[in-house]
Amino acid sequence: MRIIFLGAPGVGKGTQADFIASKFQIPKISTGDLLRASVAQKTPLGKKAKEYMDKGQLVPDEVVIGLIEEKLNSEECQRGFLLDGFPRTVAQADALSRLLAAKQQPLDRVVHFVLSRKEIIKRLSGRRSCPSCSAVYHVEARPPQKEGMCDMCGAMLLQRSDDRPETIEARLKVYEQQTTPLIEYYRALGILSELDASGSVEEVQQRLLAILTRPGMA
Ligand code: AMP
Repeated sequence: MRIIFLGAPGVGKGTQADFIASKFQIPKISTGDLLRASVAQKTPLGKKAKEYMDKGQLVPDEVVIGLIEEKLNSEECQRGFLLDGFPRTVAQADALSRLLAAKQQPLDRVVHFVLSRKEIIKRLSGRRSCPSCSAVYHVEARPPQKEGMCDMCGAMLLQRSDDRPETIEARLKVYEQQTTPLIEYYRALGILSELDASGSVEEVQQRLLAILTRPGMA
């Protein structure tokens, strides 16, 4: 199964992607996680990406397309994959289409996560992330068992630098301008499903499963 999760930052794509990836035994590929790993390792790519990420802007297309191309050509992706946070521009979507056409691996479904702006801001500002294993929590909706500590690996939880209020606004604007055209892009291809991303993690999981287990899904 080859799937894309599309939606504004903070709609819950990453949390649901972990669930679906494990349920369907496919790798989750998050360009945000890949870029944060490069930033943490202080690689030349990471240093360049950090300048954009700290401002809430998109990292240049050629950088993320290169990262994705390498991943999609890897052995682990030959039986399917879930893309979280890619593509984010029409140029990225075009590059992905070309890449998958060459491999004769068409996309099965693009799921568009729909949530109100008010709820998105609430989710982003309360989000806490594990810098070690990328697990995600929320101070109210999904607190860790021990305050400030990751349930999975025990590392100290942090607020992502781009989850601060001034950067949240910039990221939402970038999403509106550069990523929302992809909704119509994939609708025109007949592979878009709209997902109501409101409510609890479990409620969204159930709606998502209903979409991904419909007859005709690979
Ligand atoms: P995310 O974790 O998906 O919210 O991504 C965090 C940041 O990484 C974004 O605000 C961008 O700066 C960068 N980023 C992640 N994915 C992409 C992408 N597909 N294209 C460009 N920049 C990206």
